[in-house]
Amino acid sequence: MTGNLKNLCLLGSSGSIGRQTVDIIKRHGGYNITSLAVNSNIDILEGQIEEFKPKKVCVYDKEKAGILASHLRSCSTEVLSGMEGLLEIAGDPDNDLTVTAIVGMIGIRPTLAAIEAGCDVALANKETLVTAGHIIMKAVKENKIKLLPIDSEHSAIFQCLQGKYGPDGDYASWSGSPVVEKILLTCSGGPFRGLSYDELKTKTRDDALKHPNWNMGNKITIDSATLVNKALEVMEAKWLFSCDVDKIQVVIQPKSIIHSAVQFVDGVIMAQMGVPDMRLPIQYALYYPERLPLDCGRLDLFDLHKIEFDKPDYDTFKGLKLGIEAAKTGGSICTVFNAANEYAVGKFLERKIGFTEIYDIIEKCMLNHKNIAEPTLEEILEAESEAVETAAK
Ligand code: MG
Repeated sequence: MTGNLKNLCLLGSSGSIGRQTVDIIKRHGGYNITSLAVNSNIDILEGQIEEFKPKKVCVYDKEKAGILASHLRSCSTEVLSGMEGLLEIAGDPDNDLTVTAIVGMIGIRPTLAAIEAGCDVALANKETLVTAGHIIMKAVKENKIKLLPIDSEHSAIFQCLQGKYGPDGDYASWSGSPVVEKILLTCSGGPFRGLSYDELKTKTRDDALKHPNWNMGNKITIDSATLVNKALEVMEAKWLFSCDVDKIQVVIQPKSIIHSAVQFVDGVIMAQMGVPDMRLPIQYALYYPERLPLDCGRLDLFDLHKIEFDKPDYDTFKGLKLGIEAAKTGGSICTVFNAANEYAVGKFLERKIGFTEIYDIIEKCMLNHKNIAEPTLEEILEAESEAVETAAK
């Protein structure tokens, strides 16, 4: 801590979550932004450096890091690059909170470095728990840090669990808790809700990029259309809340008004409702356990009239079924599911494959994989390359 301010390391500061994090801190204060990292967007980073004067920044792209360093000659901010740079800023023991808003499996090692440095982590990087949940959660427990969810559904579940922790008092774990019966993970159903598999086959990149409720990056918008995102979120919830996959029920709620819910043993369901706005989960993680004002829209229940629910169509949206199977099995198959999807979505965005071929690729890669129950970081990376190789064939 510096004075009354907590030291914040923000990984992925130029992306949508990163920029919203910065805006929230400008509004509510409480943090000294001491380090920032981007993949390659040095224009946004330069503005942030000017504004917050961080000690260190990391640009993952080495060439871009060089360009930035030449711009910053007269400034005291140190410019680092690559994975070494990410690990150096994330592993600084002076950090109080690290926000991990970088996309992809590249987030695993910096997240682990932050946890091992005894720093709380606000997690907006799904792949970290999806692929290395067993390693991350072990480190969270050993280092007694808080792992705060930024994913909106997981934030909702976390909010519903306040005051109802497991018997061990572990804030994020209700494993064996006598009070929680199941998690209701809500899902908008995406733009293709209600379509048949044959209709799904004809959908193009432009159709898939029109999400009804949320405005997000391209990769996650496609994942929301295939419902693969929901499968990844099942894996995320399994680790975050130490719960069996069969206690997580996916519920379609088309307007994204209920962000998720928890059902307790007395039959009570507690849900978190509100307008869909990512600033809420980000702000809740940054200032947990405080609840601060937010100038987002307000839900008018009279305007809303009703809330609809539906069961997911697992036969049409095969990616959800495959992902839940992987989540139940656990181990390196989850990395394969994630990596095959990432590859396939890339090809779909390049208009090289059709929409349902995303599912075909995931399925082939999963069938081809020999599962490792508790993979090491190295084995996780191997499973990733294997999946990409199979997918490319
Ligand atoms: Mg989500």
